Amino acid sequence: MTDTIFAKIIRREIPADIVYEDDDVLGFRDLNAQAPVHVLFIPKRPLATLDDATPADAELLGKLLLSAAAYARTEGFAKEGYRTVINTNTHGGQTVFHIHVHLLAGRQMHWPPG
Ligand code: 5GP
Repeated sequence: MTDTIFAKIIRREIPADIVYEDDDVLGFRDLNAQAPVHVLFIPKRPLATLDDATPADAELLGKLLLSAAAYARTEGFAKEGYRTVINTNTHGGQTVFHIHVHLLAGRQMHWPPG
């Protein structure tokens, strides 16, 4: 896996507005927010895409989702609701190849997405 902008954020080489951190996961605000709340949850260990995940990554993938849910509860918008998204490869719209869960909240979401 090649180095990404998110790896640089993990290493604190470039700034980010970090709002969540534990041993395995980092959460920071998206630079180009698509909702009043738009946070990206990434594993500290590199994994490029969901397509690269194996059963060995099951716990880590669970942690990403649980981190997003915990953040939503802590921030008080869980009951109102939110959306979690993982974009994968070209047709999925993935642009940064370090897997991430988008957490979007603070407005009504629509379906289908673009
Ligand atoms: P993707 O399109 O891969 O699912 O999502 C990548 C996201 O990363 C985009 O929403 C984009 O705005 C965000 N992003 C790209 N570069 C940076 C950066 O340097 N800092 C932050 N905080 N977000 C970034």
